[in-house]
Amino acid sequence: MIVEADGSTVDADVVVVGAGVAGLVTARELTRAGLRVVVLEARDRLGGRVWTDHRLGRDLEIGGTWIHWVQPHVWAEVSRYGLGVTRGPRPEKAYWLAGDEVRTGTLDGFMQLIDPGMRRLLADTMRVIPRPDAPTAGPEVAEADKFTVGEKLAELQLSEDEYNANEAAWVGHFNAPLEDGAFANALRWTAATAGSWHLMHEASAVFRLTDGTAALVAALAADTRADIRAGTVVSRIEHDANGAVVRTTDGQAVSARRVVLTLPQNILGDLQVDPPLNAGKLAASREKTASRGLKAWIRVRGPVQPFFAYSSAAHPLSVVRTEYLGDDDAVLVAFGADADRLDPNDRDAVARALTVWRDDLEVLETTGHDWMGDPFSRETWLMQRPGQLTGYLADQQAAEGVLHFASSDIADLWAGFIDGAVESALRAARQISAGLPRRPSVTSRTTERDLP
Ligand SMILES: Cc1cc2nc3c(=O)[nH]c(=O)nc-3n(C[C@H](O)[C@H](O)[C@H](O)COP(=O)(O)OP(=O)(O)OC[C@H]3O[C@@H](n4cnc5c(N)ncnc54)[C@H](O)[C@@H]3O)c2cc1C
Repeated sequence: MIVEADGSTVDADVVVVGAGVAGLVTARELTRAGLRVVVLEARDRLGGRVWTDHRLGRDLEIGGTWIHWVQPHVWAEVSRYGLGVTRGPRPEKAYWLAGDEVRTGTLDGFMQLIDPGMRRLLADTMRVIPRPDAPTAGPEVAEADKFTVGEKLAELQLSEDEYNANEAAWVGHFNAPLEDGAFANALRWTAATAGSWHLMHEASAVFRLTDGTAALVAALAADTRADIRAGTVVSRIEHDANGAVVRTTDGQAVSARRVVLTLPQNILGDLQVDPPLNAGKLAASREKTASRGLKAWIRVRGPVQPFFAYSSAAHPLSVVRTEYLGDDDAVLVAFGADADRLDPNDRDAVARALTVWRDDLEVLETTGHDWMGDPFSRETWLMQRPGQLTGYLADQQAAEGVLHFASSDIADLWAGFIDGAVESALRAARQISAGLPRRPSVTSRTTERDLP
């Protein structure tokens, strides 16, 4: 309990809602700044949309996985905690579709096939988004943000082979039907890699943490003095100029001078906030993200030669590749554009989906998580709809009185990635730290220990 100068009491300087990467980094930064922080997390585990879980005989990433050194915020965490980085096996064979026909070749062959389409689609990237760290600043971005990536791809009038291959690559990136995803997303990702689609591709799908994202989550949790309460669902927030009361479904009421909300875009608007959140935040949450896909892990009988395969938006699985190789089995990772079309835990349905490329694989077990149905996410990784970047991002990022916001979904640079979660947390923590006067008793870490 903290007694304020006017005799009133608060439970914390800051309540952080959510213990995903954004919430944990926010908590670390604020406790380092000498503030007393309570983190309320709905699930009974930490990490949110990153989740390493032991399934199919391996430690699998059920959510976010790949990171890259061109992602500065997450890479700083890798360096800070000395986390190991590794990669999956290099594919030796590639499968893709041309209409109903299956083509096979090498990874290089596939890359060469999509290269002309990628270059043409992304030719204006650095003109439209010259500064990916300020993604709405360019004078041309509002016009570009009117279109879907599907519309822009169709304009190129590619041959059927090229079109299918490019479409499949983008469906994989968007985790959404291409008629929903904003062209501006494709530009943001590519601008973040200085216009190189090859590097963008690598940054989003190759390197992962050796000990999983669990190692990052554990390092963050161990590096904060916050009071982290898992299994605590926040249902309502009342706020005024002096502070806020955060109420939970199990009847707790935690008062604080500041609150940081880290809820994903698709559920933020469902929280009862009084007075209500600004119109942009609510509209973005109502409209939902474009991304609504699935991620599946598939154990097949081995040995298997490392491969990857792309299909099209019309298929329940659009991308599949080997991620772990054993002597007598292999584990594949796969993505589809629409979670309603395939249950990753339905082994037979997943096996059928694989036959679009190969009927020689014996599927032993499959697994995945229903992120779209999960009440604490209802989305996978952020991919915006047309108009959301230029229409809502500023409102989504804006603090409202004592309420602050951090989420990968509202990052500037690598929104939708683990990197974006770190970026947004650093910003929120800095704003609070700069604006919140310290109480004399907690200006140093030593004295904070003496608090009741
Ligand atoms: C399938 C999948 C694959 C992905 N792949 C990649 C990838 O390869 N690389 C990459 O960089 N990123 C990837 N991402 C995205 C990345 O995982 C996320 O962008 C990032 O982890 C989001 O972090 P966050 O802290 O902003 O949000 P979250 O992790 O969603 O954290 C929000 C937290 O708030 C909690 N919460 C929600 N409601 C309440 C409530 N009412 N009360 C209390 N707590 C609440 C949630 O339980 C959660 O812990 C992927 C995501 C998914 C789902």
